[in-house]
Amino acid sequence: MDRILVSACLLGSRVRYDGRAKTSEDTLLADWRAEGRLVSFCPEVAGGLPVPRPPAEIERGSGGNAVLDGTARVLRPDGTDVTPAFVTGAHAALATARRHGIRLAILKEGSPSCGPLKISDGTFSGHTTPEQGVTAALLTAHGIRVFNEHDIAAAATYLAQTHQKPDPSPENSTSS
Ligand code: SF4
Repeated sequence: MDRILVSACLLGSRVRYDGRAKTSEDTLLADWRAEGRLVSFCPEVAGGLPVPRPPAEIERGSGGNAVLDGTARVLRPDGTDVTPAFVTGAHAALATARRHGIRLAILKEGSPSCGPLKISDGTFSGHTTPEQGVTAALLTAHGIRVFNEHDIAAAATYLAQTHQKPDPSPENSTSS
């Protein structure tokens, strides 16, 4: 059974910076949960950050890849550098995905960790930039497809198309 990594806040965990969840009501997600497919994960908590915590954004409109290659930082509004926690959390997410043989993740859009398509632009003004968060970028770089919570139908299609059927065993094959 294919497992799926999911941002913990989408599954009802109150792990966001403001101490709240962002629970998804998507029925596909509920079905997968009932099947025991989902692996819930919060990179920021795994990186050692508390709940609640001040918000943080990647500086200068940069994305997760720039954080991973050391050319951008993740900062709080007061300038506190929380980059190491974000990088640690991203690697913990990748390790968890690998442990479960995961090829697909559904991640919370807009987060500086999880955002698959867009994140805040580093100005703490509500504006976004078309970049990935740190965890989304690391998972993508290692061949794990990431979708946001608004695109779960596309994630299901991807899962169906890439489902690996077991090879027929040569011992069980017959020739005539
Ligand atoms: Fe949700 Fe990801 Fe933020 Fe954790 S880091 S609260 S899982 S969006």
